[in-house]
Amino acid sequence: MSADSRVSEAGRDFIRDIIDDDRAAGRTAVIVTRFPPEPNGYLHIGHAKSICLNFGIAQEYGGHCALRFDDTNPAKEEQEFIDAIMRDVRWLGFDWGRHLHHASDYFEQLYRWAEHLIQTGFAYVDDQTAGEIRANRGSLTEPGRDSPFRGRAIAENLDLFRRMRAGEYPNGARTLRARIDMASGNINLRDPILYRILHANHPRTGDQWCIYPTYDFAHGQSDAIEGVTHSLCTLEFEDHRPLYDWLLEHLPVPSRPHQYEFARLNIGYTVLSKRALTTLVRDRHVDGWDDPRMPTLAGLRRRGVPPQAIRDFVRRVGVARANSVVDIAMFDFAVREHLNKVAPRRMAVLRPLKVVIENYDGSGEELDAANHPDDPSQGTRKIPFGRQLYIERDDFMEHPPKKFFRLAPGREVRLRYAYFLTCREAVKDAAGEIVELRCTYDPATRGGNAPDGRKVAATIHWVSAEHAAAAEVRLYHRLFDRPDPGAEGDVLADLNPNSLEVLSDARVERALARSNATEAVQFERQGYFCRDSSSVPGRLVFNRTVALRDSYSKA
Ligand code: ATP
Ligand code: MG
Repeated sequence: MSADSRVSEAGRDFIRDIIDDDRAAGRTAVIVTRFPPEPNGYLHIGHAKSICLNFGIAQEYGGHCALRFDDTNPAKEEQEFIDAIMRDVRWLGFDWGRHLHHASDYFEQLYRWAEHLIQTGFAYVDDQTAGEIRANRGSLTEPGRDSPFRGRAIAENLDLFRRMRAGEYPNGARTLRARIDMASGNINLRDPILYRILHANHPRTGDQWCIYPTYDFAHGQSDAIEGVTHSLCTLEFEDHRPLYDWLLEHLPVPSRPHQYEFARLNIGYTVLSKRALTTLVRDRHVDGWDDPRMPTLAGLRRRGVPPQAIRDFVRRVGVARANSVVDIAMFDFAVREHLNKVAPRRMAVLRPLKVVIENYDGSGEELDAANHPDDPSQGTRKIPFGRQLYIERDDFMEHPPKKFFRLAPGREVRLRYAYFLTCREAVKDAAGEIVELRCTYDPATRGGNAPDGRKVAATIHWVSAEHAAAAEVRLYHRLFDRPDPGAEGDVLADLNPNSLEVLSDARVERALARSNATEAVQFERQGYFCRDSSSVPGRLVFNRTVALRDSYSKA
């Protein structure tokens, strides 16, 4: 694929326009971007937007994109998250090559730059507590107040900072702050904290450090070390840009990155805050980070969403400067659209009702079924027929209303790929519940058409009772039951108590007992499904990835 066709496939946006201008003006020869997650949780679909943007731009312009872990807060970061992030970025289809970096790779350099700021009079050690610093920061309408330690001599600052590094003080006893302007209209410029004392073991640097740079101090300098040309981040960092620029101007950095902000991805009925997602996992409202109801990439993967559908979705959403909320139906649409093309068709009965065909006495009969209606290259398979079948409970009504065209007493329907079937009698148990249908079939309709040309109003799916495999099928509904979870304060209060529906007595056609975990299938008339990762031979579990139609927008 040529670079130009990739650009048009990716669509246009203001960031690509900026890059084009920079190239046209000769400002940047090689485009360098980065995706900078903090390893304090799993990646979610919002991160996918940032990943597709950063890696996509690097591909289109023949530059490179780094994966950089912003691992500056060992209190919250874990190796499990680092591993999961790498797995998920690869799964989404991107490769950082040799450009794998960590902010912690630069701890020594960042420390030296902090000393540089002290020596040039632009940083000081503050003995105020965190509470005092907060109280003196001022507000949007009031300026801050200078720290009593702001006027410390350079030599004293240097000595104290070195002793902070040497571990002489407990957590929180002192901080290093930039000396900028306590009266600045931008609160981020009111002497922001650059270093804090934290006696904590770091996943990569162990006990080497007991002071850690803040995200704000590490971020822009890490970009500069890596030669990042376009540092793309979400809008909440717009007000931090003046600080990043100030730091870059006051330090002898090797390159000058420029930051551009775009709108976060927000999706209706979905929470994309790492803090809220962490709570869901920690307090066991879901079955881990990869619970198929989670908007995490691990959850979407387990649910059967193909990475290509995520990339398509993100491309359609586009990159803009204005915040908005994307309809979740748009995501489901992208998933369906992709699965419709690739997923082979199978038959599965989720809520079985037994059918006995009284006039059938064949054995070993097999029928031909197409694997994909629009793609003959997917071939056909044999499906076993028999005297006893299962059909979907919903496909029968004893007293059908006007618009119900499927099976009812005395009515004839088509069994998909098989025969016409007529219901003769509904057998009930002592409690009055229908337990079985007694039916007859028409042997002349093999393959699903009547030689006399008579028509039926419905085609239903089925499986042979003798040959079908038992399975558990999990249907996932929205995890939250309002479009803006947490809008009234508590995200947990908006959890949908019925987000997981387990159908423990489903029957699937035998070909599905062999399908492997990663293979998406369409259960005819039901939706797209995949084998759950917990599925083992003898205990099949399927996840519904997405239903065939959008049942929510109708409601
Ligand atoms: P937190 O929720 O704790 O602020 P975060 O989701 O911003 O965390 P990071 O690890 O800092 O997590 O994110 C890595 C990158 O992904 C950042 O550049 C961030 O801007 C981007 N990102 C995070 N959430 C979204 C989102 N919803 N849409 C687009 N980009 C996002
Ligand atoms: Mg963040």
